[in-house]
Amino acid sequence: MNVLGHFVNGERTALSAQRSAEVFNPATGQVSNKVLLACREDVAVAVNAARNALPDWAAMPAVSRARILFRFRELLLQHADTLAAMITAEHGKVLSDAHGELTRGLEVVEFACGIPHLLKGEHSDNVGRSIDSWSLRQPVGVVAGITPFNFPVMVPMWMFPIAIACGNTFILKPSERDPSPALFLAELLREAGLPAGVFNVVNGDKEAVDALLDHPDVRALSFVGSTPIAEYIYTRGSANGKRVQALGGAKNHLVVMPDADLEQAANALIGAAYGSAGERCMAISVAVAIGDCADELVEKLAQKAQALRVGAGDQQVDMGPLITSAHKDKVLSYIDSGVAEGATLRVDGREQEISQKPGFFLGATLFDHVRPNMKIYREEIFGPVLVVVRVENLEQAVALINDHPYGNGTAIFTRDGEAAREFAQHIQVGMVGINVPIPVPMAFHSFGGWKHSLFGSQAMHGMEGVRFYTQLKTITGRWPGNLHLHSEFSMPTMK
Ligand code: NAD
Repeated sequence: MNVLGHFVNGERTALSAQRSAEVFNPATGQVSNKVLLACREDVAVAVNAARNALPDWAAMPAVSRARILFRFRELLLQHADTLAAMITAEHGKVLSDAHGELTRGLEVVEFACGIPHLLKGEHSDNVGRSIDSWSLRQPVGVVAGITPFNFPVMVPMWMFPIAIACGNTFILKPSERDPSPALFLAELLREAGLPAGVFNVVNGDKEAVDALLDHPDVRALSFVGSTPIAEYIYTRGSANGKRVQALGGAKNHLVVMPDADLEQAANALIGAAYGSAGERCMAISVAVAIGDCADELVEKLAQKAQALRVGAGDQQVDMGPLITSAHKDKVLSYIDSGVAEGATLRVDGREQEISQKPGFFLGATLFDHVRPNMKIYREEIFGPVLVVVRVENLEQAVALINDHPYGNGTAIFTRDGEAAREFAQHIQVGMVGINVPIPVPMAFHSFGGWKHSLFGSQAMHGMEGVRFYTQLKTITGRWPGNLHLHSEFSMPTMK
């Protein structure tokens, strides 16, 4: 069994090694690694390394920083199979999905390679006689990222490529449930030529997170995870004077209009609900069936859900296991609650043979006739459970979604352009798909939800990312030849 430590100042280190946690292979249910959990003093060592590396890194021309990211991109491609296998071994998702996650992270690196262009400021000459004004975007300083288990490569890569490209130094606190990929990424960055201390990985749990939240030298914090923790991070980080962007949980609805191609909609729903065993913040967990298409849609969904192949992620299957035994128990308790509250259990994943085998497997589960007051509708389940809510028209569907506390992603399937436009205009959700089930924005756009799915004002990557990781400075200047010879005491106005 490996003991996974940290990566600080360009090398792997155990630091104080006081506490550790077990890391599982979810497909076997066995412990595969141990991960060390950093204490407050360990975090201080990493922050110190990042602070020492900051002046030289921030002073390096953006074009030179970009060249290191270009080399990092090549290394990611070269080691794609290794990284995907690492993700599958600790997270459980199928290999093709792990490759997909890596590609979406790689796209942020590609975006960050354009940093010399992205950092260009604005310039106005002659804002007053012989006075020019221009703006700069300068690094924030030492910044940290705290990330969830469900995308151990992609979510850290929503953050650090742009943060370091902008001239910041970075501390990543990955999920303690699948910590290996982050350490490997750190080694690839070193191989790409990144100076020691610019990118550090501190493994740990709440203690390490709290230490980052309280450390005065950490100037900005990016968080992705569940809503209660996102709110906590936002509140405590902001109270400590930091910039914070904290992305939380989700309950994503897909609306099926009666005019939609039902076969296409059902296929989209199945992939979006059960891909990665439903452990995606953009998973569709609610199908909203409008009018008389509901019976046929549910019939199609039931047949397709029953046909899904569930097994170890490195086999030819559609869906892997859940992350831990405790999480499987939590999802099972939601199924119990759905039955108790009177929803119709159309497909029971507990009955699939694989759900009884070692490993944290659970078959695809489908509920029909779910009502908005039920727990399985209100709360994020984060497992392979799709619920169907039946409504009469688009207005009811929009009202239903807008009333939900989460607002991460949503989609509508229809052939009616006007309905799609109305939906996109009026829905209170950050990312909207039109006949696209999982509308995850590309790296050059920005990812972020509304309501309880994002605390703070800035989404991740794209120009929002560049703005989050830089401070705006605006300079107004003139040269001595035309300086006034007397003092002015009134508010300066340009003449
Ligand atoms: P989580 O909130 O349990 O953990 C996220 C991070 O916070 C981890 O690094 C963890 O170590 C740390 N953490 C956990 N408890 C903490 C505490 N009490 N104090 C301080 N830090 C703590 O989330 P998870 O289970 O790893 O991930 C799944 C959740 O993440 C789901 O809710 C999912 O919707 C959400 N998610 C959201 C997005 C998004 O973009 N909005 C993307 C991916 C995942």
